[in-house]
Amino acid sequence: MVRLSAPLQFLKGVGPALAEKLRAKGLETVEDLLFCPPFRYEDRSRFLPLKHFREGQSGALLAIVASTRTRTWRKGSQVLFEAELQDEQGNRLQARWYNAKYLASEIVPGLRLALFGKAEFDFQGGRVFLAHPEFEVLPEEGDPELALHMGRIVPIYESIGKISTKQIRRFVSRAMEATGELNDALPADILTRFRLPRIGKALHEVHEPPTELNLDALNSRRSPGHMRLIFEEFFWLEFGLLRKQREVKRSPGIAFQLTDKIRERVKQMLPFKPTAAQLRALKEIATDMSQPHPMNRMLQGDVGSGKTLVAAEAAVIAVENGYQVALLAPTEILATQHYLSMQKFFRRLGYNVAMMVGSQTAREKQQVKKLIAEGHVQIVVGTHAILEKSVEFAKLGLAIIDEQHRFGVLQRLFLRQKGLAPDVLVMTATPIPRTLALTIYGDLDVSVIDEMPPGRKPVITKHSPATAAKSVWEAVRKELVQGRQAYIVYPLVDDSEHSPDLKSAQKMFEMHSGKIFSGFRVALLHGQLSSGDKDAVMQQFKNHEVDVLVATTVVEVGLDVPNATVMVIENAEKFGLAQLHQLRGRVGRGAHASFCHLVTGKLNEVSEQRIRAMVQTSDGFRLAETDLEIRGPGEFFGTRQSGLPQLRFAHILKDREILEMAREEARAFIERENGTEGYRNALQYLEQNWQRRYGLGQVG
Ligand code: ADP
Ligand code: MG
Repeated sequence: MVRLSAPLQFLKGVGPALAEKLRAKGLETVEDLLFCPPFRYEDRSRFLPLKHFREGQSGALLAIVASTRTRTWRKGSQVLFEAELQDEQGNRLQARWYNAKYLASEIVPGLRLALFGKAEFDFQGGRVFLAHPEFEVLPEEGDPELALHMGRIVPIYESIGKISTKQIRRFVSRAMEATGELNDALPADILTRFRLPRIGKALHEVHEPPTELNLDALNSRRSPGHMRLIFEEFFWLEFGLLRKQREVKRSPGIAFQLTDKIRERVKQMLPFKPTAAQLRALKEIATDMSQPHPMNRMLQGDVGSGKTLVAAEAAVIAVENGYQVALLAPTEILATQHYLSMQKFFRRLGYNVAMMVGSQTAREKQQVKKLIAEGHVQIVVGTHAILEKSVEFAKLGLAIIDEQHRFGVLQRLFLRQKGLAPDVLVMTATPIPRTLALTIYGDLDVSVIDEMPPGRKPVITKHSPATAAKSVWEAVRKELVQGRQAYIVYPLVDDSEHSPDLKSAQKMFEMHSGKIFSGFRVALLHGQLSSGDKDAVMQQFKNHEVDVLVATTVVEVGLDVPNATVMVIENAEKFGLAQLHQLRGRVGRGAHASFCHLVTGKLNEVSEQRIRAMVQTSDGFRLAETDLEIRGPGEFFGTRQSGLPQLRFAHILKDREILEMAREEARAFIERENGTEGYRNALQYLEQNWQRRYGLGQVG
């Protein structure tokens, strides 16, 4: 018997070299292999005859290679490998692979192939052919391995470098044999209730599906075996997260007082009446803060929904209790902006606000550090410079982190250690669907601001091809004449040889100031300016000493200038959906109607989807869903950095319902079983098997 935790080398046929290659791809143990999901299934018990392959038909087929040839043209720069295929009935069909000269040594006449592909029509040759089919060379008749690859529903695995799906299938089959009966760690009553198969049966179904299983169910990952494995991954993930959350909720923290006097101070600070959503969020935050345990809450709200105000209210509670507050921003521009608004908010209350950013001189920093350490400032706004070891707070009580997705978990931890478990509030404008937020930021509670401050008019968004830019400039001019201001955003700072089709802020600034908008005050803002220059430009724009701000995406986060009513984004096809939405969020912040012009060059399918979504809706949640669908969760959240768990069978998006079920079951399990032997076993299993992979060990 081979243990699940045994290195792959223990499997027959896996030598040191192969084991090393597998390890490089993240497959180390027998267990890794057993939990490696096929991405597709092929029914090789029934094949379509070749003559059924008309244009557009796709499917699996079985054929003998009758002949092959390699054709080249354009002086050998173009290569086409063709194979003439024949089935038992004598029907013929051609398969073609472009730029695949290497296949000539692999596919030779007489071989028997299992293929999977789609038929296309060749107008020149007047016949149907298979374009780039996947193929597998089958063992000869009488080979004992034949049964593994033929005559049944066969799992297809992602090939791993040079290791083919066939080899992986072989290894998985050996691993199944070698490990024997597996111990099932999922609570038995859950299996019964959901009618989920036990682990051994589930793995068998997934890797060696019996022929009576439904092919579509397998391919859509909804066979009972799949359901069980997906459920299981989510269950342990949620179990771990919920446990972590309970732990934090029990550890000692600061219990802030919430007296009438403090409520009065909060009211005194408010420059305007909070919206109902802001009130609700503050109430949730204040309740957390009054608990004798650390708060760990995410404040989610679309751009412009007024998160800063809520954060400032929370800050008042902390300061009135005699604690300090740190406010972290991802960029200096945003830190500066927050610094200015905090000063404005707190002037009336007489708080001292300091700023701490990387570009300050050593002397300036030294001074600020001293003030922080001696407790002379109540609010410190800054970038990750605040996280430096030498920054010591006299009495840190609340840490507010803006735009969490740019800060690693580690940094959150650092911040923790600056005080006695200060309360943590993370603000994000990435409107993650709630269930996902729970999973990805699992140990955070979530408050949502789902309402905009009154008087907001939705931004009118238009798409114009670059050839119609002139009319866009006309529309901008119309706003400027009425005393409004405009942003014009470019993907590059400077013209680049590498991307000749992209416009740059520098070059277009010259065009705009010299020609298109001569007579108006035009300024340039990009990340390569010194931070002093950046501040100066921003301040000028805020004070309306500048009419048109030509910029890169440095304006993406946080800039708040209500008089700006036009946002033009050139080469908009080059920006991601979240970025476009953030950029658009710079306008529509005042009483005047606002516009966003997306100017694009050539669009591909994906960029067209994005632009269409932008024109159709200004709802950040809907855009986030669209973005998630277009890009997939890995890219959407920026995988590792965001602490996205590494799932094998489960898919955070596609399996959202199972995720919710698993979360509910995990919660009930903890409530019901806490302290029992079953619970201790589950916990041990969690720690041994899942903790590291899910990064639960590090989550602060
Ligand atoms: P976010 O950080 O959520 O993107 P901000 O906090 O920057 O949004 O707020 C956006 C704008 O709305 C700011 O100009 C802010 O002063 C204003 N604002 C916030 N809350 C209210 C409110 N309750 N009533 C009116 N204006 C508000
Ligand atoms: Mg903000």
